[in-house]
Amino acid sequence: MGRDDCIFCRIIAGQIPCTKVYEDDAVLAFLDIGPISPGHTLVVVKPHVRHLYDGDSDVLEGLGSALGRVAGAVVEATGADGCNVLCNNGRAAGQLVDHVHFHVIPRRQDDGLFPHWPKFEYEPGQAEAIAQSIREKL
Ligand code: 5GP
Ligand code: ZN
Repeated sequence: MGRDDCIFCRIIAGQIPCTKVYEDDAVLAFLDIGPISPGHTLVVVKPHVRHLYDGDSDVLEGLGSALGRVAGAVVEATGADGCNVLCNNGRAAGQLVDHVHFHVIPRRQDDGLFPHWPKFEYEPGQAEAIAQSIREKL
């Protein structure tokens, strides 16, 4: 199931070391090697799946229960005020490792790490048109 050319498959297989914080049948969670803040953790699904929307639903079912648990532990252990939970999908969204993973990033009030994202206003009818297109794909 693992791929030799995938760094996260190799970590899951035990071929490359990591600083592990949690493991079950569905996920492995370990500290990011290039953290944004202390305790920055990656929750990685075990099968090699590139995008969140590529896998079978059971891949994500196992992930769901672990993700909240790990995020809560990270916040508590680091004494953070909150956390961001992010999943980058595709290069345009900043995905560098093509194996589904969630970043748990501890945040402190006014840490200035990154600001809230910019926003715009929909043109009349645009929101409903986009929502309709999404509904048709579900
Ligand atoms: P992405 O941009 O794909 O969402 O994030 C990939 C993350 O994986 C980066 O934050 C990067 O620091 C982390 N990373 C890449 N290679 C390794 C590694 O070998 N070990 C660990 N612990 N983290 C890694
Ligand atoms: Zn992989």
